[in-house]
Amino acid sequence: MRALYIGRFQPYHLGHHEVIKHIASEVDEVIICIGSAQRSHEPENPFTAGERYLMISKSLRDNNVFNFYIVPVLDVNRNAIWVSHIESLIPPVDVVYTNNPLIERLFREQSYKVHTPLLFNRKEYSGSEIRRRMENRENWEELVPKAVVEVIKEIKGISRMDDLCRNDK
Ligand code: ATP
Ligand code: MG
Repeated sequence: MRALYIGRFQPYHLGHHEVIKHIASEVDEVIICIGSAQRSHEPENPFTAGERYLMISKSLRDNNVFNFYIVPVLDVNRNAIWVSHIESLIPPVDVVYTNNPLIERLFREQSYKVHTPLLFNRKEYSGSEIRRRMENRENWEELVPKAVVEVIKEIKGISRMDDLCRNDK
């Protein structure tokens, strides 16, 4: 059985991590799509697809999870054809896991089985909250796997965030 999980992972955090570890323990393979892969260097989307790829793969390997494939996906900006766009990039899947109501609807309309996993500490394990803490020099490190802290250090991610959130006035 093969499952699909989709996110923007800006950045990959402990909420994503808990869900993916759980899915990986239930199915043979998890396909992880990195959505909005073309976006980076924006306050809402600071990290490149390659950087997000590193965050996800290192974190899962650190937890001895190896049955995953990561596929970056560019936006098509046409919801009606988005599922076939994804299908053109990934191996066939039996089930989709998502908490996003639009993704759920689009896949259900194409007759996919969709599971909605439990949310873990959603108030804090959230990309927006983590980016807010990065901007404000608050403790974001506790909300992401250790490997993500290392990747963000390696790419000097906080200094990048500082520049993205400044304006030229
Ligand atoms: P942002 O605030 O930037 O939208 P996000 O935390 O919602 O970030 P996404 O990459 O948008 O992360 O979400 C990918 C998937 O992960 C979605 O289905 C989302 O509902 C789910 N998800 C996000 N946070 C959690 C969490 N704390 N526990 C479980 N699933 C989560
Ligand atoms: Mg989200």
